[in-house]
Amino acid sequence: MVFTLRGSSYKTRGIAFYCILVFIILVGIHVVLSTTHEQYGRMTSISQIAPTWTNHASWGKGTDTTHDATHNAPPATIHQIEDHLPQEWHHPQLGLENATILILARNYEFKDLAKTLRQLETRFNNKYHYPYTFLSDEAFSDEFKEWTSLAVSSKVQYGLIPREQWDPPSHINLTLADELGKKLQANGAIYGDRIPYKNMCRFNSGYFFRHEMIQQYRYYWRVEPSVKFFCDLDFDPFTYMREHDKKYSFTISLKEFENTIPTLWNTTKEFIAEYPHLIAPDNSMGFLSNDGGDTYNLCHFWSNFEIADMEFWRSETYMTWFNFLDRKGGFYYERWGDAPVHSIAAALLLPREKIHFFNEIGYRHEPFEHCPQGAVHQKGRCSCEEKNNFDDNWYSCTTRFHSMFSLI
Ligand code: GDP
Ligand code: MN
Repeated sequence: MVFTLRGSSYKTRGIAFYCILVFIILVGIHVVLSTTHEQYGRMTSISQIAPTWTNHASWGKGTDTTHDATHNAPPATIHQIEDHLPQEWHHPQLGLENATILILARNYEFKDLAKTLRQLETRFNNKYHYPYTFLSDEAFSDEFKEWTSLAVSSKVQYGLIPREQWDPPSHINLTLADELGKKLQANGAIYGDRIPYKNMCRFNSGYFFRHEMIQQYRYYWRVEPSVKFFCDLDFDPFTYMREHDKKYSFTISLKEFENTIPTLWNTTKEFIAEYPHLIAPDNSMGFLSNDGGDTYNLCHFWSNFEIADMEFWRSETYMTWFNFLDRKGGFYYERWGDAPVHSIAAALLLPREKIHFFNEIGYRHEPFEHCPQGAVHQKGRCSCEEKNNFDDNWYSCTTRFHSMFSLI
């Protein structure tokens, strides 16, 4: 039997007319939203609604975090760059280590980041093709993904940070944090009143190595937008770390702004008193303190560059340290940076020979740089001026780091 409008009553025809009208309006709204709002389009696209049809096998060890139920915002996306780039564009990994280049960045930083990535590729990664992992608390824009994926030779994955790894934890009194943050800022503490910056510092201190996309890796190389790499690397620093059983490495060290961490050293001393068995006997206290641990000399490794073994961050020892600090609230009531938090941990919880200085890696994060000298400079065809090297500056702590070893 065929139903037609012609044979039905006025009433039925009226209802049918309104149903069709509502349907057309809904479809219209959907089409408009899909084209004007990227996030809406992504959330409602067939590939998101349907079960995982996309083949992630080409991502090697990559995990599919497309369906991250822990997050209210749009799901994390592993961007299928291969879809529209030639097959040979993103090479399979040649380097032998279980490692990723890790970048936390905001969408608007895509151009600065692309410049940095070109340098890292030319100087190192175009020989090894280690995969990149980009993380952010907000969904990456297509523009960010295009620019960054075009800049590199290897596989890329883009992940969203779940809110519970980013936002202030529930024990933080946000009114108090706001009040104290304003005072900190007024006292000249840079970023003292900026909660997003504090979220970033806490994430880098205690969470990045537990992020779903990072869990599969042992080593990472942290890179930031706008940093510069000056020299050719003719060896794999990840392999160096593994073969020499190094846990943490740096290129620049310096003194922290004291007003960002007023109570961090007292908290450290409390930790030492409570957990003496966690302190390594042959530690680097000499790097942190000029008086055997009574006061902090503010020395720390500059964590915008890091190559490290995440087995250390994931260890019970480090997690005890991070949780102890987190309970104190100083990530928000003060502005504890991930640099002093990582540095104090590496210096006290690890034997000192587990920390490595990568002299061969010419590197700049404004306004300081490490520029190798003499034969190392020549060998690496470095593009920095040797006289700009920060290592011997009074504000650097690298000489102090070296002196710990010559005093043994
Ligand atoms: P500074 O070096 O201490 O001045 O801090 P930066 O502004 O360079 O931030 C450190 C790193 O964290 C950089 O890689 C930034 O791109 C990243 N970052 C800082 N704040 C945020 C944020 O709110 N969201 C995201 N996704 N990344 C951030
Ligand atoms: Mn920076």
